[in-house]
Amino acid sequence: MTASPAPLLTGIEDRLASLQDLYRDLHAHPELSHQEVRTAGIVAARLREQGWRVTEGVGGTGVVGTLANGPGPVVLLRADMDALPVREATGLPYASTRTAVDADGETVPVMHACGHDLHVTCLLGATALLAANRSAWRGTVVAVFQPAEEVGGAPAMLDDGFLDRFPRADVCLAQHVAPAPAGLVALRPGPMTAAADGLAVRLHGRGGHGSSPASTVDPVVMAAAVVLRLQTVVSREVAPERTAVLSVGSINAGTRENVIPDTADLKLTLRSTTSDVREQLLAAVERIVQAEAAASAAPKPPETTLLSSFPATVNDPAASATVDAAFRTALGADAVLTLPQPLTGAEDFGVFGSALGVPSVYWVFGGLDPAGFAGLAPADLATGLPPHIPHNHSPLFAPVPERAVRDGVRCLLLAAGAWLVR
Ligand code: ZN
Ligand code: ZN
Repeated sequence: MTASPAPLLTGIEDRLASLQDLYRDLHAHPELSHQEVRTAGIVAARLREQGWRVTEGVGGTGVVGTLANGPGPVVLLRADMDALPVREATGLPYASTRTAVDADGETVPVMHACGHDLHVTCLLGATALLAANRSAWRGTVVAVFQPAEEVGGAPAMLDDGFLDRFPRADVCLAQHVAPAPAGLVALRPGPMTAAADGLAVRLHGRGGHGSSPASTVDPVVMAAAVVLRLQTVVSREVAPERTAVLSVGSINAGTRENVIPDTADLKLTLRSTTSDVREQLLAAVERIVQAEAAASAAPKPPETTLLSSFPATVNDPAASATVDAAFRTALGADAVLTLPQPLTGAEDFGVFGSALGVPSVYWVFGGLDPAGFAGLAPADLATGLPPHIPHNHSPLFAPVPERAVRDGVRCLLLAAGAWLVR
């Protein structure tokens, strides 16, 4: 029988105004992946004020706080800190107007369009209450503030000796704000988010004058054929009940209307929730790219490069049931949704649990004004959101801190409390 987590939440209401101010400050000062210097500084300072042992510079800008509070389970709580190269269009008084220089040397606008500012705020709220309410729990908490989630920064923390430098967790927990009404939480046992693989493909042709195509091998036509043929992989090769996505997000070739270029470059993303479908997609891309190049009489074979690879985030069934029960008890059954299928978004949080060999649980919580969802039942939201709702990564994505900060802090403490409160 688990004790009530309520004492862990003592004082939450008194802290909300200051946490909402912190959220607005972080939102107005977003930083690109691997550049989270200001954010990490704020995190480290707050954790120290709260009485946590703090290690900075883990895997780049990562910050790890540790709070040992007697014998008991070790719980890892993780938040990500980075923002995106998106020009904010929310019109909020605390909207970002910032720019930064990205990894390619380009000056780009920056926005917390994925809501990681909310994740940082909520975890700092949870760490404050864990420190203030030490008599309510037993064990150790490792609070991980991770850089560069958008580009898969978690492995950099592991490569920086994470497993040896910090207490070994018994369970890893993390959350993400979703384009759903505030007050709603969703999770599922098993695959929770898809695996994502980013690929670059270079197709080789033979350039020449646009007026004499017969003397060339046109990589633009080759690329067009590849793109269309790739769109048959999910529709014709993957079984309809399996989850798979293949999108070509970038196509580049040539500079002038009358010059046939030598090469064409494609970038694509693959999403899958099981390793066999992942292998199937990767093999199909390679097969089609090679075959289309051969069909065009390409002078040399195409090159495929893996740009990034996120494993699927898989919720341990038993640990997921524990978190689900804690949410249902405290928030009410209507507030907790069991997702019928994994989300096709990707996450790198799963690498912590995999590296430690322990269960992970990852859930999403609604961050938007419920007024925008009038007339929709929670079950409608499990199968697809209305198109007028701005999703994560949209320049219009705007969580409401007046609701979402409280919800996010509560979810973290309710989930952690399922291990720490005995
Ligand atoms: Zn994102
Ligand atoms: Zn995100």
